[in-house]
Amino acid sequence: MRTTFLPFSKPSISEPEIEAVAEVLRSGWITTGPKAAEFEEAFKAYCNAEGAVALSSATGGMHLLLAALGIGPGDEVITPSMTWVSTVNLIKLAGATPVFADVDRDTLMVSAKTIEPLITERTRLIIPVHFAGAAVDMEPLRRLALEKGIHLVEDAAHAAGAEYRGEKIGRRGTAIFSFHPIKNMTCGEGGMFCSDDPELIERIRRLKFHGLGMDAYDRNSQGRSPQAEVLEPGFKYNLTDIAAALALGQLRRLDEFNQKRALLAHRYRELLADVEEVLPLAVPSYPTRHAWHLFVVRLDTERAGMSRETFMAELKKRNIGTGIHFKAVHRQKYYRETLQLPEGALANTEWNSDRVCSLPLFPDMALQDVDEVVATIKEVLA
Ligand SMILES: *Cc1c(COP(=O)(O)O)cnc(C)c1O
Repeated sequence: MRTTFLPFSKPSISEPEIEAVAEVLRSGWITTGPKAAEFEEAFKAYCNAEGAVALSSATGGMHLLLAALGIGPGDEVITPSMTWVSTVNLIKLAGATPVFADVDRDTLMVSAKTIEPLITERTRLIIPVHFAGAAVDMEPLRRLALEKGIHLVEDAAHAAGAEYRGEKIGRRGTAIFSFHPIKNMTCGEGGMFCSDDPELIERIRRLKFHGLGMDAYDRNSQGRSPQAEVLEPGFKYNLTDIAAALALGQLRRLDEFNQKRALLAHRYRELLADVEEVLPLAVPSYPTRHAWHLFVVRLDTERAGMSRETFMAELKKRNIGTGIHFKAVHRQKYYRETLQLPEGALANTEWNSDRVCSLPLFPDMALQDVDEVVATIKEVLA
């Protein structure tokens, strides 16, 4: 048995990144300023995006998006229930109605086929989620959204560095990234809003900082800009330079991180191939580069003769951490009670909600750790 605890996720932060943060701390300017601007440019170049706005979280980005699109009472927003709660919370808080699309049983992603029947004349926005680092099949969705005149915005919280048909997520359309500590790159808390719509980028840039047309640190005058005026009431979701310095270092290492994640994931897939109680997610058949944000398996509870919760507890006793991504949003107390969706309404989502389990996957893990996780899984199931 392992003598040290293996968490399911852990950020990889190097000494040069710590030094870069220390430099900002010593510089006299610690909130949004030159580092945040540099990070926006670097992320934009990495994704080959047309516009990018650095934010304090992806959740903040989603809030700004709903405000910018004027989504409110009477509007419907289609998104999966197999996602993090933040998107659905914000739809609710905006006074709009979340409409859940079921996901593919084995990729946990929505498709044009599952979304189209849910479109009504009230539908204003579709938010697909690139799940676990794989890309949603965007082409049919883009066509559908265009044809129906509905906004399409990608939840790219799992997709930093992922590609769809040879293009980075963030290159086309609108995508919101997260830099929370469990994501593929982190800066403590942070997010990035990418879009090829220049008007939307301008609006987000304004709304993210009090509705002023500029940051407190004016890029042209290289100092405070006391003359800035409120152009419309805005929020406060700017990314600090402390965080941006770390994000810049992480972005430089992102490809290396994702290659390591892929190596570990392939080892898992190889070793789990003969463990019939444990079913990894499927990899999409269209051309993608997988960012391997998570290694999600489903426990075949019938075959294993144990619940997913018991399975996780037994692994924890043996010093192996796991996570759940995700408990379906419509199964969370508030949404259970307010939406009262009948059992089976989202069959694939519900089946997975009871069975998903994320195994340890992070860049500083060794292949040996994967071997130990799989050996321990076999022991628990035996
Ligand atoms: C992490 C996550 C978010 C929220 O990101 P934050 O930066 O923590 O606000 C949104 N959607 C999904 C699918 C996520 O996993």
